[in-house]
Amino acid sequence: MKTCTVYGDMQADSAAEQYPTVPLCDDCVSEDSQAGPDHKIVSQQRYNPAFGDTCDWCSKTAAEEAADKA
Ligand SMILES: [Zn+2]
Repeated sequence: MKTCTVYGDMQADSAAEQYPTVPLCDDCVSEDSQAGPDHKIVSQQRYNPAFGDTCDWCSKTAAEEAADKA
């Protein structure tokens, strides 16, 4: 699980909506890294549960991801 800044709604007024910070699971992060020019992740940080523990794209939770790796 990573906490990522992604491209959001560029028509929005606030930077928080243009570049929202969301939790993403490792699968979605690695898929995005192979998406080339269509990638949506601006930057990734260490996982911070303060931004949530459920992947914004596929709804996998941090607990489910940990169980997958166990
Ligand atoms: Zn995901």
